[in-house]
Amino acid sequence: MCSSGTSAGERKLMPTIEEELGRRSLLYSLLMPVMNQFVPGLDRGKGMYFLFIKSEAKTPGGLLARPVLTSYYKSSYFRERPYDPYTNYTSPNETILCQDFYQSMYSQLLCGLCQNHDVLRVGAVFASGFIRAIKFLEKHWILLCNDIRNGKIDSKISDPSVREAVLKILKPNQKLADFIEAECSRESWKGIITRLWPNTKYIDVIVTGTMSQYIPTLDYYSNGLPLVCTMYASSECYFGLNLNPLSKPSEVSYTLIPTMAYFEFLPVNRTAPTPLGQKTDLQELVDLVDVKLGEEYELVVTTYAGLYRYRVGDILRVAGFKNKAPQFNFVCRKNVVLSIDADKTDEVELQNAVQNAAKHLLPFGASLTEYTSYADTSKIPGHYVLFWEICLSGSAPIHPSVFEDCCLAIEESLNSVYRQGRVSDKSIGPLEIRITEKGTFDRLMDFALSQGASINQYKAPRCVKYAPIIELLNSRVVSNYFSPKCPKWVPGHKQWCTPN
Ligand code: AMP
Repeated sequence: MCSSGTSAGERKLMPTIEEELGRRSLLYSLLMPVMNQFVPGLDRGKGMYFLFIKSEAKTPGGLLARPVLTSYYKSSYFRERPYDPYTNYTSPNETILCQDFYQSMYSQLLCGLCQNHDVLRVGAVFASGFIRAIKFLEKHWILLCNDIRNGKIDSKISDPSVREAVLKILKPNQKLADFIEAECSRESWKGIITRLWPNTKYIDVIVTGTMSQYIPTLDYYSNGLPLVCTMYASSECYFGLNLNPLSKPSEVSYTLIPTMAYFEFLPVNRTAPTPLGQKTDLQELVDLVDVKLGEEYELVVTTYAGLYRYRVGDILRVAGFKNKAPQFNFVCRKNVVLSIDADKTDEVELQNAVQNAAKHLLPFGASLTEYTSYADTSKIPGHYVLFWEICLSGSAPIHPSVFEDCCLAIEESLNSVYRQGRVSDKSIGPLEIRITEKGTFDRLMDFALSQGASINQYKAPRCVKYAPIIELLNSRVVSNYFSPKCPKWVPGHKQWCTPN
């Protein structure tokens, strides 16, 4: 099993065992009974979920390595699930199991549109994935409408099993095609989800953690439908579920299921964190039964597949109890500063990448004096933005291509998950450098001091999220540059690509 990416580098390989799939299915099977208590009648329609598989690789020893969801969707637990009105999806399995992203997304949208009145809930795993589907629709609705009008599937969809599965659903429907065309050609796409799928009761996507940045976009497209975060899981193991699925995203808490793994908790002191590299005293570990309300902990798991006291890297806060079972808010992922989709870039990695890139300035008599960054998700796909303040010793201006090379150099230095997002998934847009006027970072410091920061301890933040600060930086931008092409990325695992 490989994770979607780690906070500090390449994908990690996680051990897994056959029986783990059964345990994971058990958690999935708990979701609908919970949901049904809050939103009745979900058995009278379908779910339109955008689900995808990714490429798999073989380890040198011959074992399969693939993301956890790919292995779940390919397993008999998913493919051969018995008919259940509560897990009836608009996407036929063949469309989910098609590895070509374009064909998979196109056919899933086509099937979702054809059955638009049956759809009672829509979703994807993460918010970013769902928004990608809407953006795909924005780009391809004319083709999709043609297919619905003629009852034929576009020739770009060449996978025979996908074609066969879609043709069982797709019938010529002039009226529906006209309706979709009218809605999609309106200037505003506000509320497009409720317009095209009028019976939708909620959007099932994870919007906790870094995904909360997508809440305003989802609200816009759905006219504020409830956003439901059903579960909390990872490649290491699945953790738990949300027993109060209609709670506001900022109040979501997850109840850990004690049979999923052995859970322990490392108390977190966020004002005086353990310095990087320093060993934490495992004596401090607290058991699930002993966590205290309001306290923050780092999650530590011992799994059936063999991970022993493994630090997942997530920080959780005890939000309350269901009977005696503690419920946790997801606070953040440790050390992550930038994230658009599955990518998670930490401060050290960003620092190294920026350092590599800044070397390109030296031959031109320029050097980087300060930088900070933010994840710009105002457009889809989102992209990383770096604000750079530079010091020029010569008077000759620097050619834009030099800064473009810097953008690419940063991207080349980031981890493979970032580069996969750029190259293969196209879920991340080209990285941008915005050059700011001299003195901008002094202004930033003045601002922080005016808000009560200590001058002795002030450090320029390497990532900014607070809107007034981003505004301040943007107001002093003198030029901006984008990465001119995609960085290099190859499927598989870094170690296996290195010849011995
Ligand atoms: P991966 O193992 O690469 O699939 O990523 C698992 C990580 O995704 C977890 O450790 C969390 O950091 C994040 N994650 C998973 N579920 C949630 C959730 N419901 N809310 C916030 N973050 C989540």
